[in-house]
Amino acid sequence: MTALDLDRFPRVRLAHLPTPLEPLERLSAHLGGPRIYVKRDDCTGLAFGGNKTRKLEFLLGDALGKGADTVITCGGVQSNHTRQTAAAAARLGLACHLVQQEPEPWHDPDYGDSGNQFLGRLFGAELHSVPTEADRSAGMERVAGELRARGGKPYIIPGGGSNAIGGLGYAGCAIEIVEQAGAMDLAVDCIVLPSGGGGTQGGLVAGLAALGSGIRAIGIDIDAEGEAVADRVRGVAAGTAGLLGVRDRVADDAVAVNDDYAGEAYGKPTPGMIEAVTLLARLEGLVLDPVYTGKAIAGLIDLARSGAFGTDDTVVFIHTGGTPALFAYRGAFAGL
Ligand SMILES: *Cc1c(COP(=O)(O)O)cnc(C)c1O
Repeated sequence: MTALDLDRFPRVRLAHLPTPLEPLERLSAHLGGPRIYVKRDDCTGLAFGGNKTRKLEFLLGDALGKGADTVITCGGVQSNHTRQTAAAAARLGLACHLVQQEPEPWHDPDYGDSGNQFLGRLFGAELHSVPTEADRSAGMERVAGELRARGGKPYIIPGGGSNAIGGLGYAGCAIEIVEQAGAMDLAVDCIVLPSGGGGTQGGLVAGLAALGSGIRAIGIDIDAEGEAVADRVRGVAAGTAGLLGVRDRVADDAVAVNDDYAGEAYGKPTPGMIEAVTLLARLEGLVLDPVYTGKAIAGLIDLARSGAFGTDDTVVFIHTGGTPALFAYRGAFAGL
């Protein structure tokens, strides 16, 4: 029994849960502490895995409850969210429309065609292009209007699935971490994860608050806009905690976002990301991604090197997935 029953919310089962919680022994030894564990949300199972699958269990539960026959969502061409949404829609027999903004944050010969973009096509999603990120909402509304005019029943999922309902998926991850740590006799001091749209960290914070857990969560901003990320995390934390009936339990200081590791912009490689992705590959055989988890673990490594954790602390890193995008960044790993 857990303190939180998430099955009272409409939900479809898509993910392989619980995902493993594993020690990164060679990384921990390499850094001389803290003790680092990885929560393998890259292993959620659907279509190469990732954090969006947990959110989609609740978002698509809501969509099916409302009678939807089509889902519409948005992202960049290498969006992990659109890839997981397209796969989930295929699995549930729903049509899927993806609204994609044009400018690409990184130029690589394969960027526009490989990785997530190829997979979205493979899952049969219909792609729509809009000029900029700011045009995505209007683009989704336009597609929804066209579908409704033809008698369709579209359901719009916001970018990244980052809203109160999506956050329920990460309240679920908080429950798993607390239960697994208990079974492994671990006293977790801190959880570190990448943060952008805010749904992952917001849901996690809401779940930890609902459980009465004192574990700190540090989001590493990957959008190069720390204040905006923190605002979005606070919004989802409040919304998801509201759904869970524990809004008053989310402390004002429960949302911590560190914006030192994003580099110039979303999706632009940093030297720390390249170092971290290469280091984890060689020490642990673990594949990280260039946009989210690579920058986030670069942050964790730098924080460890600069003494931000006690050497005996236990830190859990959430691997939120994103690995298909690595192949769109081949050129960033010059010399390999
Ligand atoms: C979308 C994504 C994130 C960010 O999650 P938010 O809930 O938007 O903050 C982190 N990692 C990966 C791999 C993602 O695809």
